[in-house]
Amino acid sequence: MEKNKLIIQELIKTRVRTRAGLESLKRKMAKKYKIPCQTNIVLLKTYHKLLQNKRINKSKVLEVLLRTRPIRSLSGIVNVSVLTKPYPCPGKCIYCPSQENVPKSYLDNEPAVMRAILNKYDPFKQVKMRVQALKNSGHPVDKIELRIIGGTWSFYPKQYQTYFIKRCFDACNSKNSKSLRQAQKNNERAKNRIVGLSVETRPDFIDKNEIKRMRILGITRVELGVQSIYNHVLKLNKRGHLIESTIKTTRLLKDAGFKIGYQMMPNLPGSTLKKDQTMFEQLFSNSDFQPDLLKIYPTALLKQTPLYGWWKKKKYKPYTKKQLVSLIKAIKKQVPYYVRIQRIIRDIPAQSIVAGPTKISNLRQIVNKEIEKEGWKCHCIRCREIRKDYRPKEKLKLFRKDYNASQGKEIFLSFENRNQTRLYSLLRLRILSQKQFIPVLRGTAIIREVHTYGQQLPLKHKGISAQHKGLGRKLMQEAEKIIKKEFGLKKYLLSQL
Ligand code: SF4
Ligand SMILES: [Zn+2]
Repeated sequence: MEKNKLIIQELIKTRVRTRAGLESLKRKMAKKYKIPCQTNIVLLKTYHKLLQNKRINKSKVLEVLLRTRPIRSLSGIVNVSVLTKPYPCPGKCIYCPSQENVPKSYLDNEPAVMRAILNKYDPFKQVKMRVQALKNSGHPVDKIELRIIGGTWSFYPKQYQTYFIKRCFDACNSKNSKSLRQAQKNNERAKNRIVGLSVETRPDFIDKNEIKRMRILGITRVELGVQSIYNHVLKLNKRGHLIESTIKTTRLLKDAGFKIGYQMMPNLPGSTLKKDQTMFEQLFSNSDFQPDLLKIYPTALLKQTPLYGWWKKKKYKPYTKKQLVSLIKAIKKQVPYYVRIQRIIRDIPAQSIVAGPTKISNLRQIVNKEIEKEGWKCHCIRCREIRKDYRPKEKLKLFRKDYNASQGKEIFLSFENRNQTRLYSLLRLRILSQKQFIPVLRGTAIIREVHTYGQQLPLKHKGISAQHKGLGRKLMQEAEKIIKKEFGLKKYLLSQL
């Protein structure tokens, strides 16, 4: 411990500013004191102790460098996932697993589910535990994107929905509020601010009233289980809704200012490699779709599903590894630069998968290696976010992309380097469709998202990151200009918490 204190003091004295510098100094000190090279988590603990005893001054830079898994807060916000309690789902999808005491579609050996079970699905306890764990490993937790997962959100009783979200806010506020409204208000000044709130649901369970309710609940992003755009595939898999629901719901949600993610499932019974590839092309060439975010979840063959019976009777065959890898590459190649691929392949433990390429635990790495070997890069938002590689002197250019979406117009603005490989900041502006249905939005435009990337820093800190350098403000000014001058609108609404 004594030696660790000396290491921390040395790190502060020498004002180390890079991860490489940190590692080199750690090695040097280990040699000097004849001890093994110390881990960041141990050093961070010592740092906090010294800080508490007022033996050192606070060093934001060192805190950032010592963070154990920097990736978690690199897009500016930390993610916290919470699971709703087990509850029946109206769906009968043949690929979806059922397990006792676990929400439909989840398995009890998935990390988030294990955490939920440990906390008896209590939202307050789940959030507290996760935030504390992130804090312990050195992440600033003052901006949180809360992800509510488990079954079909819109099917849960309304009272439970309100209770659930209120308790998540209470956990971030570290105090109990009388009502959801009060909890949301308290959160505006809380140390752990929820800046985004997402739920996952089915397209056919959303109507205008549900959307109005979602706005009151403070939801900002909706993940739709779309799975396929082909009605014959949806029918064969007993989805219980057709593509028309997805198209309508996408429009209603966009016109109300929500960000939209699609969960898509290649390799469903009834589809083929060719059809799957065309499906992803359609998502971005057909203005009825155009999701902002994409999750690609190739069908995983699980024992707890009716699909397992199909496979045993040879009525279903998963793709080979080669086929799936080439499909994912083809999808990545064509995805537009205003879309973020959130995830490829669901995080299901390999031992739960009976057969097929999703059983290969490093499939994602295999895809990335092939892409690297072929010498091209995925252009989605996620792959261009600057993360820790912030270059203060880099010349940035303002880019603009207009596209039609769900009978309205989307304008995507971004600050990026010249060849658009490094994204610093983005904004999504929507000119609503003629069918928009929320009275307060009449005659207004909606800014559905403004986001600046880089290492998350506490809200008031001005430091080494791209955050707080005014990029977001500049994008807002540009959007205001477009709204007024090009579309003659006087008002706009910023759809964020
Ligand atoms: S709607 Fe979702 S949770 Fe319900 S059965 Fe279908 S896949 Fe499973
Ligand atoms: Zn990508």
